[in-house]
Amino acid sequence: MIELSQEQRIILENVRRVAKERIAPLASEIDREGVFQWDIARLFGQMGLLQIFLPPSYGGLEEDKTLMFCLCVEEIAKACASSALMLIVQAVGSYPIVVAGNKDQRDRFFPRLSKGEELISYLVTEPYAGSDVAGIRAKAQKNNGDYILNGHKCLATNGGVATLYTVLAKTAEKELTFFVVERDQEGVSVGKTEDKLGFRGSNTTEVILEDVRVPRDNRLGKEGEGFVIAMKDFDMSRPSIAALALGIAEAALDVSLDYACQRETFGKPLVKHQAISFMLADAAMQIEAGRGLMVEAANLHDRNEPNTKLASMSKCFCSDVAMKITTDAIQILGGYGYIKDYPVERLFRDAKLTQIFEGANQIQRMVIAREMIKERG
Ligand SMILES: Cc1cc2nc3c(=O)[nH]c(=O)nc-3n(C[C@H](O)[C@H](O)[C@H](O)COP(=O)(O)OP(=O)(O)OC[C@H]3O[C@@H](n4cnc5c(N)ncnc54)[C@H](O)[C@@H]3O)c2cc1C
Repeated sequence: MIELSQEQRIILENVRRVAKERIAPLASEIDREGVFQWDIARLFGQMGLLQIFLPPSYGGLEEDKTLMFCLCVEEIAKACASSALMLIVQAVGSYPIVVAGNKDQRDRFFPRLSKGEELISYLVTEPYAGSDVAGIRAKAQKNNGDYILNGHKCLATNGGVATLYTVLAKTAEKELTFFVVERDQEGVSVGKTEDKLGFRGSNTTEVILEDVRVPRDNRLGKEGEGFVIAMKDFDMSRPSIAALALGIAEAALDVSLDYACQRETFGKPLVKHQAISFMLADAAMQIEAGRGLMVEAANLHDRNEPNTKLASMSKCFCSDVAMKITTDAIQILGGYGYIKDYPVERLFRDAKLTQIFEGANQIQRMVIAREMIKERG
């Protein structure tokens, strides 16, 4: 389905090998300990994976960025979803600078991100506004040519480990604007670190902004362009959440197929019982269909063509599929699926988040329907 150049195949082979040999063996420990893995972040930085969306002069890929990004995320998610999420958040956090940053901002921030040593986090969600992005309350008030930011951001992936934040705040009642904020600036503090159901190796925190003085030069785009920038970010990120979900689903199918071939009940392997083999067949079929959506959404984005509908379809379909396949995987393993000696219960817990973040699946369906109505004129 996917035609890759030789160079792209080599990149992907390398990612696949690293995921299998260096990340997969750590996945259950990462889940158990629930601690952010700096070693893996540095490894990704050295491999150039944290920089894919930066301009090529800063270590980004020349072409097919979104597709290659998704394929890398999928490979790593098969090994460890928490680790794969690091790549997505780095892309999501830096993307407002990629799409709206001026030359000075690119020159100041990209060299820091291009070394692969610093992380950037994306601060949009607040306790009172998640799905309804326009409902955020964080405020940026002009003051002597600078802005004073006040707000309470929550559920920020890498909020406690990033040194840079892209923050969405209101510059007027109905006007949202993105700013780049340094974590060590006066008035910035990291609040509670969340204790989560899944993605336990991923750092999720509150970030509180109290009278933070942000230079005008850190505003991305014009005042009021923040909402459009956030929507552009979704067009890039949603196919990658599809990839994350696919990786989780593929890992679950892999374990359940192996188990079904070995485990015998009533004198034959589980896989010879039609009810079980149909579950496996459905899983394989849904993964292939999901990959088709993901690849199409990513290719459209790489060709600069509108992909909003396909991006939402890929995110929604693949995450629903991941939830179904990981649930069935537990069923196929029976009692053993429910205990931590096997990875399927972790995959099941991780799959759930893919239905919630980067726009919950109800919101994806709203977007798809809205795009369909638009197409009808
Ligand atoms: C682990 C984790 C990491 C995250 N990382 C980040 C991050 O890095 N940066 C960031 O900004 N945010 C992040 N988020 C936040 C995430 O994007 C939001 O949780 C998500 O957008 C949903 O928002 P909410 O939680 O406020 O739910 P709400 O908006 O309150 O919605 C609650 C439920 O109602 C449904 N719903 C809402 N409105 C409608 C409607 N009109 N019709 C039908 N159903 C509706 C939703 O689909 C959802 O199921 C993260 C969340 C988690 C859990």
